[in-house]
Amino acid sequence: MNSGTGTDSGSGRAEAERLIAIGEKLLQSRDLNGSRDFAILAQEAEPLLEASDQILAIADVLLAAETPVGGDHLDWYGILQLDRTCEDQDLIRKNYRRLGLLLHPDKNPFTLADHAFKLVSDAWAVLSDPAQKPAYDRAIAVPAQPATFWTACPYCYFLYEYPAACQGCCLRCQNCERSFHGLSIPSLPPLVPGQEAYYCNWGCLPMGFVFGKLDPNGPGPMVENGPDVVGPVAVENGVGVASRKPGRPRQVL
Ligand SMILES: [Zn+2]
Repeated sequence: MNSGTGTDSGSGRAEAERLIAIGEKLLQSRDLNGSRDFAILAQEAEPLLEASDQILAIADVLLAAETPVGGDHLDWYGILQLDRTCEDQDLIRKNYRRLGLLLHPDKNPFTLADHAFKLVSDAWAVLSDPAQKPAYDRAIAVPAQPATFWTACPYCYFLYEYPAACQGCCLRCQNCERSFHGLSIPSLPPLVPGQEAYYCNWGCLPMGFVFGKLDPNGPGPMVENGPDVVGPVAVENGVGVASRKPGRPRQVL
């Protein structure tokens, strides 16, 4: 392939054109990563050929469009090769113009250029619009749903962390072995330093906390009046010890 007779621009150009031809074939078969790799190799062999820039622009734009953001939104920032937090309208305009010139179907002869050009135009329409951009930013900033939730056994008040998919399901308490409805609780009681063990278990073992009303003279938390927080409980050898008031550990089981 390479005559090995020198590094003149002629051989570099021939090699770049060979690589571009491979990149074009890969683009036609929708191998975006492959076509991108060969476009970069062609750029390295001969930086001044527009064809490699054109293939690279198509591949980059279509790859950015493949991964939705904020649920199911197109990644307009990624399509314009911008940081997700970009507020710089000059930079947004600059990237739009550069990609628009590379991708315009009148100038870019490669397959999918029209599709990439439309994506770039749509991205510009959103990100350059003083009303649409903030709305889009809010839409894609929606925090991901927590993957787990906390629930409490209503009989013994042991806390459990379960995968989010178990929310609302019938769960079995590993402590008292009774079944209960897996309702999410909003927050955990605070840790009391020096007293409690905090056992983080995955939906199968006691967490080292109990919920319930504490009877100061009784054997432990009363269970009949709902989930008032008593506090963290250290679990040692299967026996919980309430420790909300330091120095007054209590048996709860
Ligand atoms: Zn229980």
